[in-house]
Amino acid sequence: MSPYPMDAKPTYSRLRAGFLENAKKHKAQVRHFKHPLKGMDGEELYTDIAVWAKPETKKWLVVISGTHGVEGYYGSMCQTQYMDSLAALAQDGRVGVLMVHLINPWGTSWKRRVNEDNIDLNRNYLDFAQPLPQNRYYEALHPLFVKEAATGAARQKSNEQWAEKSKEIGHTALMNQLGAGQYLHQDGLYFGGFKPSWSNATLRAIMGEFLADCTDAICLDLHTGAGAYGHPMLMAIAEREYPGIRDAQRIYGAWLYTVLTGASQTTDTGISAAATGYTSQAMVDLMTGKRFCQLVIECGTYDGEKVGHDALLNDHFLHLCGNLQGKEFEQTKDKLLEFFFPSDQDWRELVWVRTRQIFDRALADLFER
Ligand SMILES: [Zn+2]
Repeated sequence: MSPYPMDAKPTYSRLRAGFLENAKKHKAQVRHFKHPLKGMDGEELYTDIAVWAKPETKKWLVVISGTHGVEGYYGSMCQTQYMDSLAALAQDGRVGVLMVHLINPWGTSWKRRVNEDNIDLNRNYLDFAQPLPQNRYYEALHPLFVKEAATGAARQKSNEQWAEKSKEIGHTALMNQLGAGQYLHQDGLYFGGFKPSWSNATLRAIMGEFLADCTDAICLDLHTGAGAYGHPMLMAIAEREYPGIRDAQRIYGAWLYTVLTGASQTTDTGISAAATGYTSQAMVDLMTGKRFCQLVIECGTYDGEKVGHDALLNDHFLHLCGNLQGKEFEQTKDKLLEFFFPSDQDWRELVWVRTRQIFDRALADLFER
C-alpha cells in the first residue's frame, strides 16, 4: 500500500499543499521562506517549515528534504506522512520536531538535482572567503559537458570518451573524480558555486532561529539515487570524526555507514567522499558545543551507471541549451523523476517503512536522554 496518497507524477505544488495541509491538521507552527524565482509551472516557490515544540524545548529532531531538488519527492512523502504520529509529542514538549520542507524548491519544481544557479548544494557549504578546492580531474572532463557537446556527433563523441574513461579507471573511481565538485565552471557538473546559495543562507537562518539555544539534536537529511534499490542507507558524512557519530552508532548499530570526506577519500556507497561543502559538515559546524548528530538517509533506486548518469546528462544539456519545452524535455523530466522517486508502490512503501523506523529511533533516544 502506498504510504501516502501520491500522484503517479507528483509536482512541487502537490507536495507543498500536502505538507501544509497535514501540518495544519496536526497543529504545527508553520513558516514560509519565499524563493526569488518561479517554478516550472510558473508557481511561487517556498521552503516551508513545520515546527512542533514549546518555548522551553531544548531537544530537537530536524528533518530536511530536497537538498537535491528532485530527491525531495521522497523526502516530502516521508515528512508529510510522519506528521500523523506527532500529535502526542507536541503536547509533551520535551522534544521538538522541525521539518524543513524542500530547501531547494526550485530544484524540486524543475525536477533537477541542482539549484537555480546550477549548484549542487552538497558542494556549496564552504567558506567562500578561503581558497576553494581545486579538482584537476574535473578540468580534464569538463569539455564533455559543455554546450558544444550537447547534440549530434559531438554528443556521440563525448559519450564515447566517457565510456572509455569509465572502462579505463572504473565507474566508481570516475564518479568520485567527477562528483568531488568544482568551483570554476557554472556550466559544468557538480558545480559548488561562487558564493553561498539562497538555500544555504535560508537553512542557516532557520537553524539560527530555532536551534540556537538547543542542547541536543539529531538531524536527518533525506536523499535518493545511490545504493541498492529500495534500500535506505543511513550514513554519517563528515570531514572528521565527532562525538555525535558515536551516539549514532549506539542508536542505530555498528552497521551505520560513516563516510569521512576529503580530497584523497573514497567510498563505495555511491556518494562522493572526495567532495567538500556538504550540508552535513555545515550542520556539524553550526551545532558546535551541543550534543549533535547529523545523518543522511540515502535511498537506492536504479543503477546509477546505466540509468542515472544518462538521465542527469540529458537534463544538464537541455537546461544548458535552454530547451525547456517539448517532448524531449518532458520525457527527460519523467525519467529523472522515475530515477530519483520510482513510481513502484513497493519501493515507496519500503523506503517509507525504514525511514519511519529511523525517525522513531531518533525521537525515542532524544526522549530517553
Ligand atoms: Zn542527494
